[in-house]
Amino acid sequence: MGSEPSGASGEGTEPTDQPPRRRKGKGRVYILAERCKGCGYCVEFCPSDALALAQGFNKKGYHPPEVADSEACNGCDLCGMYCPDFAIYGVRIKGGQDKTADEDE
Ligand code: SF4
Ligand code: SF4
Repeated sequence: MGSEPSGASGEGTEPTDQPPRRRKGKGRVYILAERCKGCGYCVEFCPSDALALAQGFNKKGYHPPEVADSEACNGCDLCGMYCPDFAIYGVRIKGGQDKTADEDE
């Protein structure tokens, strides 16, 4: 009661220059399919929907991830952080080269 949802533009709020949370592109993801156990964490937590589980199996009998949208990966490496088997990782790309640090627009 009495509290209003925030978010509408109005007076008294300073516009912020924050980048959008979902960044698309400018990254590359590497998949080590034979290490994968098919848990699907990487697919679920990818903020760019860049991944999907493959139809095929790896040698262990699991469905590893595959790139569903090659333009979508932003190199955030969330997939790598969630993967319990170190079977996937993402890197940022700048100027056509992999970039793992020093993010600057
Ligand atoms: S999080 Fe790792 S183990 Fe799980 S599906 Fe993705 S690559 Fe495979
Ligand atoms: S690095 Fe991984 S989690 Fe991040 S956008 Fe690319 S595929 Fe998705």
